[in-house]
This record gives sequence, structure tokens and C-alpha cells, in this order.
Amino acid sequence: MGEFDLIERYFKAPARAMQFNEVVALGIGDDCALLQPAAGMQLAISSDMLVEGRHFFADVDPFTLGHKALAVNLSDLAACGARPLAFTLALSLPKVDEAWLASFSRGLLALAAEHNCSLIGGDTTQGPLNMCITVFGEVPKQQALLRSGAQAGDDIYVSGTVGDARLALEAMRGNVSLTADAFTAAKKRLETPTPRVNLGLALRCIASSAIDVSDGLLGDLGHILKQSQVGATIDTSAAIHLNTINFIAAQAINTKTTTQLIPQLTSQNQLQYVFSGGDDYELAFTAPVSQSQAVQAAALASKTPVTRIGQIEADLGLRLINAKGQSMPNNYGSWDHFK
Ligand code: ADP
Ligand code: MG
Repeated sequence: MGEFDLIERYFKAPARAMQFNEVVALGIGDDCALLQPAAGMQLAISSDMLVEGRHFFADVDPFTLGHKALAVNLSDLAACGARPLAFTLALSLPKVDEAWLASFSRGLLALAAEHNCSLIGGDTTQGPLNMCITVFGEVPKQQALLRSGAQAGDDIYVSGTVGDARLALEAMRGNVSLTADAFTAAKKRLETPTPRVNLGLALRCIASSAIDVSDGLLGDLGHILKQSQVGATIDTSAAIHLNTINFIAAQAINTKTTTQLIPQLTSQNQLQYVFSGGDDYELAFTAPVSQSQAVQAAALASKTPVTRIGQIEADLGLRLINAKGQSMPNNYGSWDHFK
């Protein structure tokens, strides 16, 4: 099978079968795709690359890989409050494996269809397995959620649960041993994250800042603090409830001591996963106290749980406190490819 047959069979034909949304004027097949944004809209654009051995294991289920490749990109649109429109896919494949391609494209395009986000182009080449998606969304002018808008006094929230993906990864590496049910639950969070697009849309004009959590909650929150030139206090007793690990921890049966993580799933260990786990694709955001009811309404409307975990302050830096309000050490690092 040649390059063009491959594109036609696994990407162009299935993409054509999806309904194109009204902003896509021209899809796959020419030198460029064409987008026609509506008046008053800005395009929100983001790219994310997944590399074998770095972001996923070579033997990962290709259906979930297709899902995740797009999910991590949609998560960036969610963090900006942008509506997904279209995406391009640059794919490097070691060989043509039709069963793999069929499954990958089904996982990819199922999530695309769910968000009415059309595959409009890309590039296909032979090489080490790696994929780069660029996603295009739209957001009304002035309404994009940015990292730079947090103000002293704002509440800090996190959607869904964080730390589960890291727990699955540690279990796969043999550093922690989980029951079958717990492992399945954690692995689902690692391999098929849910991009919080509907929450992002519902938070337009309500949240003062937002970011998606990909490298660890505290590290990503740090980007909001830096770009907004503010500080924060996080209540660890609220944050510890953020994980399905509460459920999973009860089922953990054995852990190895070789891991950098604390071997027992103590509360300290749970916080480690929650604060610096990574690969979560939840939203961390801030909103003025006056918007707290609107935040709850947005959570309800988008069927996405949100938890308040702290407050923005004028004093720079990130402080952690326990339930009694006493300060706690912050030794939760975040993911960095080059450290
Ligand atoms: P060009 O050489 O002009 O860059 P190509 O011959 O590489 O174009 O690709 C032909 C068409 O197929 C283009 O519209 C391109 O966007 C699309 N395409 C190539 N690879 C993919 C892919 N993996 N997914 C979706 N569309 C693709
Ligand atoms: Mg060309």
C-alpha cells in the first residue's frame, strides 16, 4: 500500500464521512485546507506531539493512542475556552500495518466526531513512530481564557481527578502493585483522557485564568501564577480528595521501595500523585469569588465536577497548608523533558 492509498483509506475517506463543520471550507486533498472563521471569532491554534517511548509504549492499543493524540490537543483548546473546529495530523510510521492504522484512525476519528472537529490535512512519512496534531478552534474576541488573568482573591479550582494517570504508569513500571479493578480504572485515565472542552466553553466570561494540567498540577498552576504575577495558597486537605486514588489506594496491595515515590500509599504519597503526577488533561482555573455560583453552574451544565483547592494572593509564590491552616513543605516537582 502506497502513501496516497494509505491517506485515502484511513484518513481522507473516514474524515469525509464525518460531517464537516461550517468553518471548514476545504478539507484533505489540496495543498492547503481552508478555514473560514465567522466574524468576531479568533482562531485558537495548538500543537502537541506524541513520541514512541517518550509519551507512549510501542505496544499500546492503537485505538487509545488515536484517542489520546487528539485528546491532548483538544485539552489545550478547552483551557482557552475555544470550540474545536478542525485538526491536521503529521504521522511518521515505521511501516504500513493496516490493522494498526485502522484501529488508530478509528480511535482518532471517534473522538473527532464527538467534538465535531474535522481532520483537514496532514503529512505522512516513513520513520520512527511519532505523531503531531495541530488543532484549530474558535473563541469570540476577548473571551479566550488565558494564563495571565488571575487576580488576588480569586478562587482556584481543578476539574475531575488528577494523579490517576501517573499511578497507572507507576503500576506499569512495576513500582506499585494494584488490584485488577484499580489498575483498569487508572489505565483508562492514562490512555483515554477526557478533554474538558465543554467545561472550558462554559467558563467563558466566568474564569479569570485557565490552564490544562499535563505536566503536574502544581507545576502547571505555577505557570498561571507566573504569568498573572500573583501567588497562591493551596489547601492540601481539599486537594487530596482530587484523585480516584482514594478509591484505588484502598485496593493497593504491594509497593516496591525502589521508586522515588514514597512506597506506601500514604496521604503524602497521594498528594505526590495529585500535585505532580502529570498526564491528567484536567483544567486548573481561577475565578473571582463573586463568580463561585456561576462556576458551579458551569460545572453542572458541562457535567464536569470541579473542586476548589485554594486562593490566589498578591504575595508571590506557592504555599501549601493543611486542614488546620498550618503551612506544609512544598517538594512536589513537575514534569520536564530536559531535566
Ligand atoms: P503536499 O505534498 O502538497 O504537502 P501530500 O501529498 O503530502 O501534500 O498530501 C496530500 C493531501 O493529503 C494533503 O491535503 C494533505 O494535507 C493530506 N494528508 C497527508 N497526510 C495526511 C494525514 N496523515 N492525515 C490527514 N491528511 C493527510
Ligand atoms: Mg503541496
